[in-house]
Amino acid sequence: MLRTACPKLSAIAKLLREKYDLQFAMIVRNAPDGELRSAQGEVFRINRLMTNHRRKCPLCTPSFTIMTPRRTKPPLLEMVS
Ligand SMILES: [Zn+2]
Repeated sequence: MLRTACPKLSAIAKLLREKYDLQFAMIVRNAPDGELRSAQGEVFRINRLMTNHRRKCPLCTPSFTIMTPRRTKPPLLEMVS
């Protein structure tokens, strides 16, 4: 999966992955907007945590950008097809 020597970043990445899965599960079962928004907020919060960590941590290389999503919503159609 992730190639990083930093255990802290791995932990954050794992958490982010879990939040993404949770958000996707909500979309699949047509969760109400309020629930979806709070799930998106969690994803955003952890994503920012990861960005902040990488900026400060000497173990984390600047080339590590795979986990930084550019969209606010997951690519639902790509994942389903
Ligand atoms: Zn790190």
